[in-house]
Amino acid sequence: MGCRSLDSQGSRRGGVSGDSGAGDGLDPATRLVLAGRRPEWTDALVNPPVWRGSTVLYGSVAEMRARQHDTHHKLYYGRRGTPTQWALADALTALEPGAAGTLLYPSGVAAIAAALMSVLSAGDELLMVDSAYEPTRSLCDGLLARMGIVTRYYDPLVGGGIAELIGPRTRAIFLESPGSLTFEVQDVPAIVAVARAHGITTLIDNSWATPLFLPALALGVDLSILSCTKYVVGHSDALLGSVTAAPGRWQALRQASYQLGQHVGPDDAWLGLRGLRTLGVRLAAHRDNGLRVARWLAEQPEVAAVLHPGLPGCPGHDLFARDFRGASGLFSFVLAGGDDAARVALIDGLKLFGIGYSWGGFESLAIPADPQSLRTATRFAAAGPLVRLHVGLEDPGDLIADLAAGLARFRALRDGSAHQP
Ligand SMILES: *Cc1c(COP(=O)(O)O)cnc(C)c1O
Repeated sequence: MGCRSLDSQGSRRGGVSGDSGAGDGLDPATRLVLAGRRPEWTDALVNPPVWRGSTVLYGSVAEMRARQHDTHHKLYYGRRGTPTQWALADALTALEPGAAGTLLYPSGVAAIAAALMSVLSAGDELLMVDSAYEPTRSLCDGLLARMGIVTRYYDPLVGGGIAELIGPRTRAIFLESPGSLTFEVQDVPAIVAVARAHGITTLIDNSWATPLFLPALALGVDLSILSCTKYVVGHSDALLGSVTAAPGRWQALRQASYQLGQHVGPDDAWLGLRGLRTLGVRLAAHRDNGLRVARWLAEQPEVAAVLHPGLPGCPGHDLFARDFRGASGLFSFVLAGGDDAARVALIDGLKLFGIGYSWGGFESLAIPADPQSLRTATRFAAAGPLVRLHVGLEDPGDLIADLAAGLARFRALRDGSAHQP
């Protein structure tokens, strides 16, 4: 499933090479339609079929031996993928100008683990953003710590000040922008500049923005990681992860991933490809709907703060305006006072928001979250409990009416309980 797109095979049947999407002169919207559709993988069909297989048969031992030296985009053994996986990897590479290739993983967390293990060895130190996705922290504090890798957490707003945290063993800096649950926007170019000056590898969890809204490799990041489960698949029906590498990190990523035995089933890769074709229009709708709901929430007296990178109140909003091409539909809001029971009353009664983990599908979701319990380098102080929303493709007016009823439930409990002894 490794996919280094060196050969440019675009033809009249469509399909563009995944090699350095910057060089094709096309808008990302066009690339989304063409990317990965190589005629030798699709034949005359628009989409590659689902290729199933583990064993690949060779005509002779000589042929088998020859293939060992030339496995790129050739059937070799099932773990190395088929055209179904290659097409998705190729397409994701085409979305990151400057990328050498993309590898696929069975989940976003598996992608994060493989990316980190391709960079770090025993005795190395990792700088990890304090607002990271909780399972990322768990990986660092668990498996990586056991393997002798030390993680130091840093303030998401540190910017160029990260230089002061770098020690002789620092090998990698991991970014996630905006941060999980609290949505602080990081100064990616400033951190990349410091890392480069010290020969340190940078990795970013780019699941929120996707390369469409934040072309991370073009900003100098070495490894761009997606939980494709979210916006790439886009329909809440498959788990999938990816890592797209700059040329200098590609071989090490490929080696680590092969050694870990990572592989994605062709059905899931196919669902990822199907989702990817509409990523542009879906993200634009999530952005517009999300902003409308966020702006409405910001005006409600029951809401103390809206943590949405597109709104001025969000830490790092100026960096968002400078570096991002848009916002996705995921953000949080902080309630004005009240306790967990009042927050639960708000969420439990919502009719259009599901209660569940993950996000990035077509549907809206709401969950309670308590970010302060996850922090070690910084403190997250809030005026009340926090709710994270994923705003889906429903009509935003309907969603606002649902939330208005929710805020009324919250207010009744908050103000009612305030008068109790
Ligand atoms: C969901 C998520 C992941 C993990 O993705 P899975 O595909 O569920 O393993 C990684 N990073 C962020 C920011 C996420 O929200």
